Amino acid sequence: MQPVLADVYAAAHVIRGLADGTPLVPSPFMSALAGMDFLLKLENMQPIGAFKLRGALNAVAGVKGATGVTCCSTGNHGRGVAYAARARGMRAVICMSELVPQAKVDGIRALGAEVRIVGQSQDHAQAEAERLVCDEGLTEISPFDDPLVIAGQGTIGLEMLAARPDLDTLLVPLSGGGLAAGVAMAAKAIKPGIRVIGITMDRGAAMHESIRAGKPVEVEERPSLADSLGGGIGMQNRLSFPMCRDLLDDILLVSEEEIYHAMQVLYYEDRIVAEGACVVGLAAVLTGKVRLSGPTATIVTGRNLDMDMFTRVITGQDVRLGDKVIAGVKYGA
Ligand SMILES: *Cc1c(COP(=O)(O)O)cnc(C)c1O
Repeated sequence: MQPVLADVYAAAHVIRGLADGTPLVPSPFMSALAGMDFLLKLENMQPIGAFKLRGALNAVAGVKGATGVTCCSTGNHGRGVAYAARARGMRAVICMSELVPQAKVDGIRALGAEVRIVGQSQDHAQAEAERLVCDEGLTEISPFDDPLVIAGQGTIGLEMLAARPDLDTLLVPLSGGGLAAGVAMAAKAIKPGIRVIGITMDRGAAMHESIRAGKPVEVEERPSLADSLGGGIGMQNRLSFPMCRDLLDDILLVSEEEIYHAMQVLYYEDRIVAEGACVVGLAAVLTGKVRLSGPTATIVTGRNLDMDMFTRVITGQDVRLGDKVIAGVKYGA
């Protein structure tokens, strides 16, 4: 069942005091450039450094009588599930492959979760999570295709419209679509005329390709500055695909060079350290890909970035992403 506005209000109650109330602040530089108010919802200030804590807390709270939870995300969802489970006194087992960097393993362990390292790929880690569900009775929590996760992410929409009822457009970073589905559903239920636009990188835009094809499709995953936006939407997607298809007014794509520049803008103009995934909304405005028609907000979704990569970007050096090289450009040059 697709979640509705009442589920988002229920989620807001669940996460109160734990993951709510992040600031919505104006960006003077972006506002001047756009000629209207441009606001940033600072989810990078969440305790785990990303918005995924909202959905994870709501989903973990919904697990009744199970012996614990599991997932196979090594990124922000894994952190969210680990943190949420500890907050609820529940066991969490995060499955990952042998290829995952030690820093990520340590980060998840520091949040109190058990880490299970299996095999040479994400598929092996996924198989282990499924085994834990069958053999040990754990509940697997999807990063985006879960009604409680979507409702949890939707609380961002509630908070933005409570702070600024005059918002005209929301620019939402898009990957598996749990964030965009929840925010669009909540925002449109409260303010039907609001525009919600999903933005993602042009390398491996799984939701965009799936909506064009009319069904979930697989895309080749390639390294990106917006690494949190990588990955597929799941061939068995039940919720985030139809919700994004039906609720988003548009989906826009930005290039790695455009993300690189937007990371510099957010850092130098607003002094914010954030992942590449966060700046796709800024990039769409900076490149003129989106025409703004009133007060606009985007979500600074997380801060869990590779500091070596980030340093290269803000100092204007070349960045290598697999077989692709982004030529360095100094900010303001
Ligand atoms: C997960 C994530 C997204 C995208 O959210 P989806 O629900 O998968 O679309 C964007 N930014 C960051 C930092 C994330 O961790």
